[in-house]
Amino acid sequence: MPKLLGTIIRNLFSKPATVNYPFEASPLVEGTRGSISFNMDRCDQCQDCERVCPSAAIKVYPDDKKIEWDQFKCIYCHLCVETCMHKAITALDHVQSPDYKKSVTVFES
Ligand code: SF4
Ligand code: SF4
Repeated sequence: MPKLLGTIIRNLFSKPATVNYPFEASPLVEGTRGSISFNMDRCDQCQDCERVCPSAAIKVYPDDKKIEWDQFKCIYCHLCVETCMHKAITALDHVQSPDYKKSVTVFES
């Protein structure tokens, strides 16, 4: 019983072990792969990212100098980031927020 009382008192005055989500953001785990962003000033429209993407989440339009990225198809593997020879794709450390409507993000130069 005294041991139990000690545990209760310690828990009453210690910080919670969990995060108060959604009022508090969860700390990022090291190595988390997040969203991607295209720098169209660096991009030469080679379409390598589109070719390697395993989930067909990237569509490059060379004539329009435009890239569409489908966040709902992306599996955050970052293969495109590793493949782009021009370092035109930046790996971010956060994922896209949930949404009711499926949409693509358009990057244009
Ligand atoms: S691989 Fe890089 S340079 Fe090539 S189209 Fe994709 S973002 Fe542009
Ligand atoms: S992170 Fe992976 S799944 Fe997402 S767009 Fe790049 S290659 Fe495709």
